[in-house]
Amino acid sequence: MTFALPIIPPDRITGLVRGAPSAGGGIELPVFYPATGAQVSTLIEDDARAVDAAVAAARTAFDRGPWPGLGVPQRIEVLEACRETILTHAEELARLECAATGLILRELRERHIKRAAYNFRFFAEFISQSAGQSFDQTPGYMTTVSRVPVGVAALIAPWNAPVALATMKIAAALAFGNTCVLKPSEQTPLALARLVALLQDVLPEGVLNLVNGRGPVTGAALVAHEGVDRVSFTGGTETGRAIMSAAGRNLVPCTLELGGKSANMIFASADLDRAVDGALLGIFSNNGQQCLAGSRILVERSVFDEVLGRFTERAGRLRVGDPLAAETELGPLASAAHRDRVLSYVGIAQADGGRVVTGGTRRDDLGAGYFVAPTAVTVPTNAARVAQEEIFGPFATFLPFDSTDEAIAMANDTQFGLVSYVWSDHLPTVMRVSGAMRSGVVWVNTPMMRELRAPFGGFKTSGVGREGGASCEAFYTEERTVTIPTTPPPLRKLGLGDAP
Ligand code: NAD
Repeated sequence: MTFALPIIPPDRITGLVRGAPSAGGGIELPVFYPATGAQVSTLIEDDARAVDAAVAAARTAFDRGPWPGLGVPQRIEVLEACRETILTHAEELARLECAATGLILRELRERHIKRAAYNFRFFAEFISQSAGQSFDQTPGYMTTVSRVPVGVAALIAPWNAPVALATMKIAAALAFGNTCVLKPSEQTPLALARLVALLQDVLPEGVLNLVNGRGPVTGAALVAHEGVDRVSFTGGTETGRAIMSAAGRNLVPCTLELGGKSANMIFASADLDRAVDGALLGIFSNNGQQCLAGSRILVERSVFDEVLGRFTERAGRLRVGDPLAAETELGPLASAAHRDRVLSYVGIAQADGGRVVTGGTRRDDLGAGYFVAPTAVTVPTNAARVAQEEIFGPFATFLPFDSTDEAIAMANDTQFGLVSYVWSDHLPTVMRVSGAMRSGVVWVNTPMMRELRAPFGGFKTSGVGREGGASCEAFYTEERTVTIPTTPPPLRKLGLGDAP
């Protein structure tokens, strides 16, 4: 079986600096369509010199270009034009995204690309309401605090939702007057390369630049570059450590949106129909590859068998297959290596005394793409590796709990702290559990609901800093305090003594 390619991508993908292909200079990297395993394009890696040129272009645009000093109404116009551009090219961008990620085309159209466009509108509206501060408590003086752009932002994106996640960073950095250099994941550069080319036609020269290549080569050169003033990264926790130490050497602040092993707690007091629907969405959306997946499903023992049975039955009926087909619910994983890594957790679960309840196998009947069957396992304790490590695939780990205290303790017993899910119609349980979670986000009786004005990010090794309206404003601006005498008081006079 061979599925059709969503679009014929360009033969070669290069970085884009000031609207022209970057110098490249590095090796060629293949880009594959995950639904068939066929190579669909070649990425030209940018070496350190090419990164240098991209940062220099962004630096010049910041230091000498119009962008940082543009009035808010003019900046809003440009951000709105970015949004229009994305909507005009929505189908092309969705298909390019599909061709490198294998994400379901329907979801890309309905959620990712619309969100990408909305990210620009959201920050346009946000800056239209931003206010400075003024203090006048010292008589005769007025002190104002304004937020000014920081400079050049290095933006590093992962492969699991490239356009939706990168545009949150691009729109925020631009809205607050900065210039940027974006580095997509080397696995999924197609849609972001096209998007940057389109946006470069709307933005002033040098404001948005693109470099391509592997993390330890192109990414490392970018985050360590002395011309960079902020680093915003979304990706794995170990990469986050490397990025923060590189940026730290230059005293450059970072936001790190990292991994998770989020607890999805289902209490006997929950609406179980809704909880099972939510649990399926929480682990199988986005082909099972999402940082905020509810991958550890903790169920109160009195309803454990019922919930597990209903979940397993529905998981077995998930329509796995062609990302272009309207009925598909689970597409392929992003790469062959990732598929093999996800499935290696079957043996790891069994070694820890776990039992595979459904799935746990490749779907080779679907051809050469990187398909796996939706998988659920049970394990005896929360110490099992499949309850502690981020698997980042359509792989749910089930555990029972006997009391609210035990649910809280198990949910928090992890190195991660991105999201917690609580399913219960008993208000005291909801209040108690949500107030006890060591995670940046708690979703109650709902799967993923991202409110862009609210901070999003993780406790513990799930992240540093937050993304979202005011959090982005704080990150992408510097505060400048200016004090002016309004009715100048006399100054204490020095230097009126006798000359020596
Ligand atoms: P990754 O860490 O392997 O790579 C992410 C990006 O970092 C890629 O562009 C990569 O090329 C780059 N990179 C790698 N090493 C680098 C280095 N030394 N210096 C600079 N850049 C480097 O992550 P991934 O596999 O692409 O994405 C999956 C991970 O992302 C998962 O752990 C997932 O939980 C996490 N994620 C988190 C969020 C969130 O908001 N918290 C959202 C999506 C994904």
